Amino acid sequence: MTDSRQQNRRHFLRLAGTGTGLAALSLYMPLGSVWAIGKEGVDKPGRVVVIGAGMAGLAAAWELEAAGHHVEVLEARDRVGGRVETLRAPFSGDLYAEVGAVGLAGSYDHANRYIDALGLQRADWAVPPLKPLYHLHGKRLVLDSDDPPKWPYELTDSERKLGPQGIVERYILKHLPEGFDDETRWQDPALLALDEMTLAEFMRNNGASAAAVELIGATQWFGAFIDSGSMLASAMSSFGLFSASAPFVIAGGNDRLPKAMAEHLESTIHFSHEVAGIEQDDNGARVHARKDGEIVSFECDRVICTAPAPVVKQFDFSPALPSAQRAAIAGIDYADTVRTYFEVDRGFWFDHGVSGTAMTDLPIEEVAAQPYSATGGPDTPAVLESHVRGAGSQALVDRGDNMVDYVLGQIEKVHPDVRKHAGEGFYHHWGGDPHSKAAYSVPAPGQISRHLPKLGQAHGRVHFAGEHTTILSATIEGALRSGARAAREVMEALPTRR
Ligand SMILES: Cc1cc2nc3c(=O)[nH]c(=O)nc-3n(C[C@H](O)[C@H](O)[C@H](O)COP(=O)(O)OP(=O)(O)OC[C@H]3O[C@@H](n4cnc5c(N)ncnc54)[C@H](O)[C@@H]3O)c2cc1C
Repeated sequence: MTDSRQQNRRHFLRLAGTGTGLAALSLYMPLGSVWAIGKEGVDKPGRVVVIGAGMAGLAAAWELEAAGHHVEVLEARDRVGGRVETLRAPFSGDLYAEVGAVGLAGSYDHANRYIDALGLQRADWAVPPLKPLYHLHGKRLVLDSDDPPKWPYELTDSERKLGPQGIVERYILKHLPEGFDDETRWQDPALLALDEMTLAEFMRNNGASAAAVELIGATQWFGAFIDSGSMLASAMSSFGLFSASAPFVIAGGNDRLPKAMAEHLESTIHFSHEVAGIEQDDNGARVHARKDGEIVSFECDRVICTAPAPVVKQFDFSPALPSAQRAAIAGIDYADTVRTYFEVDRGFWFDHGVSGTAMTDLPIEEVAAQPYSATGGPDTPAVLESHVRGAGSQALVDRGDNMVDYVLGQIEKVHPDVRKHAGEGFYHHWGGDPHSKAAYSVPAPGQISRHLPKLGQAHGRVHFAGEHTTILSATIEGALRSGARAAREVMEALPTRR
């Protein structure tokens, strides 16, 4: 085992040991080029259109601009950040909550370089000294170190002794193949073999009982797709990257990162420009976007498209994308997510010594106290949210008008006095968001081998980036790395001399 694997495991177990801390986690240099593809040699700047001002698009624009190219960014929304979004209104005072990406990690080397270059502050993922809380199989469970809970599952005797933390170690971490923390190695045969199974199958293959798998699915942030996602994505993204080092958040809200990146750019970001089609020929490319009901066209030499696959699927490409690439864009699975928020007048859970955050198998899944950077206190206002990942999201939204009250009623099972403290609730449904149509890619078994090479493959003058084009799916880091990779491709393709 390498040092980094040992570090991974040590760190991972430390997180697992905090209970709520884990439950709450649900996944360059000075200003200038992040990857040192400097201005040298570019005396004929290329014209590049970047579609999307999320993390991938901003990283691509940053790198191209630093190398001296002329960049225009087309963004469908009226803000930057894409799936990195922090909500401030309608909360009172300085309260805020994350709607999209939650945690970053020390292993996010691209993100960390931007954070340092821009002088942003990191804040620890705050874990107040409170007892972890669960609601499983109809029972509210408080984790007490003096009297560990009787997990309501038919675990074997040894699994019962291990508890969730030991089960993760025994049936998952011990068996991850060499290289799982190195994204360049995902095609190593031992890793690629993991694309043939889910995390649940991986655990069962390593001796876990069905009950142990169920326990992990319900109590661990990476368990949401235990029965549906490719184990290769879990191994590289959840264990190799995200859990490799301490998680943190951006002080003041994660959206400070994309906002600061955008402020640093000299390139124009055209907001409320919704791309609908891309044409190309021997002379160049034209990107057509809808703006206030009109079609506006942008001429360029190269295009970097960072929109999520379910959006790209609807673009009109001329000439058409090759059929295998169309199949990959249409075929990669995405997960839905719905997050429902309530401002509470104070951290009333401190009165009972239990955490505000809880993992549950209720339809509300995870309950989390935000902001993640603050431990809060009995007299401090906070935000309580329900974070539902996957198939349960649409079922919740389908409840229509009574959905928010239903969620509050479910949170009441975890926090019986929540109604005395909660204000009006509201939700964000990523599946209903027209500019992402889902939360993030969660490739099913077989889809990485089949689709990943095609998702990031250039189509003539059109290059593709975004979290779904990397093995580090559903992460900020994957998105940033993909943006830098696409920028490099464009720089290599553009003539650099007059
Ligand atoms: C609920 C949730 C929780 C998450 N938790 C974490 C976490 O804890 N840690 C982590 O690292 N990552 C997390 N992620 C994942 C992370 O947010 C994403 O991987 C990353 O932000 C994706 O960046 P991107 O640039 O690939 O895509 P996006 O952020 O989607 O950027 C694409 C941009 O393209 C724009 N666009 C779309 N269509 C068009 C169009 N037609 N024309 C022009 N522009 C268009 C979009 O508006 C968007 O701004 C989470 C995501 C969600 C949703």
